[in-house]
This record gives sequence, structure tokens and C-alpha cells, in this order.
Amino acid sequence: MPTIIDGRKTSEQIKSEIAAQVSEIKAKGGKIPHLAAVLVGNDGASQTYVGAKVKACEQVGFESTLVRLEETVTEGELLKVVQDINQNPAIDGLIVQLPLPNHISVEKVTNKIKPEKDVDGFTPANVGRMTLGWPAYVAATPYGIVELLKRYAIETAGKHCVVIGRSHIVGSPMSILMARNEYPGNCTVTLTHSRTKNLPEIAQSADILIVALGKPGFVTADMVKEGAVVIDVGIHRVEDVSKKSGFRLIGDVKFEEVATKASAITPVPGGVGPMTIASLLHNTLLAAEGKIYSK
Ligand code: NAD
Repeated sequence: MPTIIDGRKTSEQIKSEIAAQVSEIKAKGGKIPHLAAVLVGNDGASQTYVGAKVKACEQVGFESTLVRLEETVTEGELLKVVQDINQNPAIDGLIVQLPLPNHISVEKVTNKIKPEKDVDGFTPANVGRMTLGWPAYVAATPYGIVELLKRYAIETAGKHCVVIGRSHIVGSPMSILMARNEYPGNCTVTLTHSRTKNLPEIAQSADILIVALGKPGFVTADMVKEGAVVIDVGIHRVEDVSKKSGFRLIGDVKFEEVATKASAITPVPGGVGPMTIASLLHNTLLAAEGKIYSK
């Protein structure tokens, strides 16, 4: 049986570590970390994600502010909200929930966020700093994966890491992090994408396979080397009449068959997913402490 890399348990552990740090800050009369989340419109999934982030803040003792704006808000008005939060010394971290309505430029809004408060790690400043190996806010999903590898003491130096998918929020940063000259890293990295030829052969040569292409059950056992570590980022709802909800969640990896070959694997649900909120809390704590950018 492979090691099941349990993201749910690990994220709870991280949350309790952060809660303990907040108690210490409180005891010393220090500043309580404060996250502001901006939500535009009424998209159901976005409301759920933001709601979960705000609830997690409460759980660990952070302060939080949720700014809700109408779907019809103008780009200028949203930029002004971001600017006001940038300048508000009471707020340490700021996230703008994506996607935004079509009439608003994600690029302009992202660029407006003060890098010192960019706890999502989406601004060019933080992506650049991460690439340079400087202290940076690393985006939640890649950071969560790095943390899982660390906490499960997965050996990475000299290993071949294959990343499937090159999105800006998962695949690309993951490839950079795994190649860095530190632990976890020092891998020889192959970044694959929709135009890659011979993907199954490349995947088969991976010691560490990180899968983030957004196609349910794409990775099958014949694409995986015996003993590989498999990290499944994908998350999809599929119909399941046996469930009360009528659906269940699956990943980009066919878990049952790949688990028979892997030495360690993340399940879906309960793998990478729960780590993202823990990562956001971690970044917000760093922001409050001024650990990335000295204040
Ligand atoms: P995306 O759609 O932005 O990018 C997908 C990438 O996969 C692209 O770079 C594309 O080139 C590549 N790709 C597509 N088809 C391919 C193929 N046949 N072979 C090789 N590469 C191919 O996706 P994303 O935002 O990175 O998300 C990927 C998956 O991860 C989705 O299922 C998403 O829901 C999930 N996700 C989960 C979390 C989490 O917290 N667990 C966070 C972010 C994304």
C-alpha cells in the first residue's frame, strides 16, 4: 500500500499551529493578522470559496473583512477598493476572488494589489521573487504541495519531477519550485502541456508526478513508474447516484489503479485541496509579521 498523503489532516495541523501563534501574539499584545477578501458578483462557487476562507480566518483567530461588490461594479470602482485596502494599515493581506466579470481586467486589478499584501502570490512582484528564489508569497496551491512534500519527508534531490499542466497558478510555479536549489526541490523538472508529444512515456519516467491539467482520470497506471510519488491537483464533480448529494469528487489521476504502483499519493478529495486555505492563512500570518517584505 502506498503512503496516502493526507491533506486534510496536514491542513488541520497547520491551522492549529497558526492558531497557537495567534494566541501568542494576542498574549503579547501584538497585532492580530487581518485578511480582507473582495468578492465581486454572486457566483456560487466563488461565494463558497470566499466563505470558507473567511471561516478559516475565524477558526485560527485572525480578523477578516469581506468586501462584497455588485456584478456591475466598474473597473475603476474596484481599483479604488483595492487601493483603499492597500493603504489601510489595519489590513495585512488582501485577496480578490477570481474570476472577475468580463468587463474588468484581471491584469489591472492584480497589478494594483500591493505586493506586501498579496497573500495569494499572484502579483508580478511575488511571482518574480519566487522565481528568483527570494522571500515571496507563493500561490496557495503550489505552496500547499511543497508543504505536503516537506511534511511527508518526500526525497526530491536529483529526482525527475514531471509536471502536467502549465497554468500560471499551478503547473508553472510548481515547475519552478521543484527545480529550486533547496528542499523540496533540486529536481530535474520536465514541464508538460497540451502540445507535449509522448506524454505517457515522459510521465512514466517521473519519480515525482504532479498532475494539474484539469481532465478527470487522465493519468492511468500504465503512465506511472513503480514507486513514483503522485500528486493529484485536479478536482472534478462526477454524477454518483449512490451519494446523497448526487455527485462525488475525483481527480486528474485514476486513484485506485495508480495507487497500486505509487509509493505515495494524494487522494481526491482530501489531498491538495484542503491545503490551499492553510497556505493562505500561512501567507497572511507572514504578512502580519512582515516576514517577506521587511516593514
Ligand atoms: P488550467 O486549465 O488553467 O490549465 C491546464 C493546463 O493543462 C494547461 O496548461 C494545458 O496546457 C494543460 N493540458 C491540457 N490538456 C492537456 C493534455 N491533454 N496533456 C497535457 N497537458 C494538458 O488548469 P489549472 O487551473 O492549473 O487547474 C488544473 C486542475 O486542478 C483543475 O481540475 C482544477 O480544478 C484543479 N485545481 C485544484 C486546486 C486545488 O486546490 N485542489 C487548485 C487549483 C486548480
